[in-house]
Amino acid sequence: TSRIAARVRRIKPSPSTSAADRANELRRQGKSIVNLVVGEPDFDTPAHIRRAAADAMDRGATRYTLMAGTVELRQAIVAKLERENGLRYAMNEIIVTNGAKSAIYNALAITLEPGDEVIIPAPYWVSYPDMVLACEATPVTVACPEANGFKLTPAQLEAAITPRTRWLLINSPSNPTGASYTADEYRALAEVLARHPHVMVMTDDIYEHIRFDGQATPHLLAVAPALRERTLAINGVSKTYAMTGWRIGWAAGPSDLITAMDTLLSQSAGNCCSISQAGAAAALNGDQGFVTESVAVYKARRDRTLALVNAIPGLSCATPPGAFYLYINCSGLIGKSTPAGKTLNEDGDVVMYLLESAGVATVAGTAYGLSPYFRLSIATAIETLEEGCARIARAVAELR
Ligand code: PLP
Repeated sequence: TSRIAARVRRIKPSPSTSAADRANELRRQGKSIVNLVVGEPDFDTPAHIRRAAADAMDRGATRYTLMAGTVELRQAIVAKLERENGLRYAMNEIIVTNGAKSAIYNALAITLEPGDEVIIPAPYWVSYPDMVLACEATPVTVACPEANGFKLTPAQLEAAITPRTRWLLINSPSNPTGASYTADEYRALAEVLARHPHVMVMTDDIYEHIRFDGQATPHLLAVAPALRERTLAINGVSKTYAMTGWRIGWAAGPSDLITAMDTLLSQSAGNCCSISQAGAAAALNGDQGFVTESVAVYKARRDRTLALVNAIPGLSCATPPGAFYLYINCSGLIGKSTPAGKTLNEDGDVVMYLLESAGVATVAGTAYGLSPYFRLSIATAIETLEEGCARIARAVAELR
């Protein structure tokens, strides 16, 4: 018997963290490793945001804040939702959380009963299924193949809904594929949801500004306002403003959900860091130049890396319209043999081969629920991406 509860024994550590750990271990052993694992901006947080946090500290904003977040930050979020998404929320419909991650987990925790189901289109962000399992509920993953742009179709949604469905989780642009729903696609999904009023929708909007196709990211609720009373919009400052370490995210939605999250968080984590909240408010209220500039840099990296990857025989990658990853199809390598005589049977074998023989660290598609693929992050210097691709090309050329 274990002294760890079954609901925790059911979950596993994040595969991207494990991949990063393995790469760091090899590096410690003296191997040269090109690490294309991490999904975080390599930029520093913009200076005006850092200054706002330092000022907050100096003015004594070093105490507990309201559980739901400072009035200043929640006002900034209200203004952001209206300005950027055309959505109107009151302050009591918003709660600030320790990153978007905590918003998603706590929203699941306050709503899921054992055996409830959560529909998760695959490929998905690695944490979704495990968060659902940690709440003693059942992740219902739906494979969304590349041929459909890695997107959930209305027919797939209809087929996945049961009386036990509590949530549909939508992440657009998506980690790991960058897939982004258009307003028309949202409208079609909303028509299905209209027939199933018991299904709530969580939108993970964390990559909304990381877009390369010149399109603004539409919000499901702007397209289908009738869903407002059963939709929770999740977002945060981590990716947009290079603030992953500050741990500020939020949920916006109907006040009964927000109040229940407030209660649970007030008895568990408590409020978010007061200084980080001041920084996040400055990020949302301040000059948005950093966003445009960083997205231009990501786009240049995406274009360059995509060209290099697609020139490698056996690999192909669709052009991601957003987020900062390439989800690379490696079906052309499955069944081939390495110089050491090992057969590559699945994407995990490909990733292991690239790491061991070429020193390039990536994450296998199995982690995201759709194979055979592997993910690399383009949130790193272009020289690093070029070196990584050159190594992958050499390693692939040695397969038989
Ligand atoms: N949602 C997705 C799809 C992500 O990729 C990430 C980070 O990797 C998060 C949420 C978590 O963001 P935060 O740093 O706000 O917790």
